[in-house]
Amino acid sequence: MNFNKKNIDYDKIQRMKALKYLEHYPQNIKTQIHQLLASEKLDKYLLKNYPKAHDIKSDKALYSYTMDFKNSYLKKSLPLSKVIYDGKINVINDALGLHTIISRVQGGKLKSKNEIRVATVFKNCPEEFLRMIVVHELSHIKEKNHDKAFYKLCTYIEPKYHQYELDLRIYLTYLDKYGKLYF
Ligand SMILES: [Zn+2]
Repeated sequence: MNFNKKNIDYDKIQRMKALKYLEHYPQNIKTQIHQLLASEKLDKYLLKNYPKAHDIKSDKALYSYTMDFKNSYLKKSLPLSKVIYDGKINVINDALGLHTIISRVQGGKLKSKNEIRVATVFKNCPEEFLRMIVVHELSHIKEKNHDKAFYKLCTYIEPKYHQYELDLRIYLTYLDKYGKLYF
């Protein structure tokens, strides 16, 4: 077998691997991000649009941040008992946050409560990215599946939901390749 090493563009393979957070996007968007990666301009792009990290660092602060959204947009939905940062969520497996409904029988009645967990990596990121995750998980209280109704609710709460998700994924790509961006 004739195996010619020179034909393999290792740099390109690295860039392809770096796009694992962006697999679901159309080719034209991936191409643009390839170009940003190749020209080493991801940091400039991110910092220009999102100059600083939020200061919602504790679980208590995260809970009241989330409750503000819930009270404004989902007031009548099931109660939210807990919102925490969770270091066990693996962002590589595509979970950025988790929404859990805990049901149990109490006094002959079925009681449900909601919990939201946010991957710890979002403790240090722009507020817009945290907002996108919180809006996503809150929307699951009403809409269980990732369908039209679900995304309609997400974009109703945050009109720039899709832009923030894309930029969040670009941020994760940056973190993997270069490490910390916000200090
Ligand atoms: Zn979801």
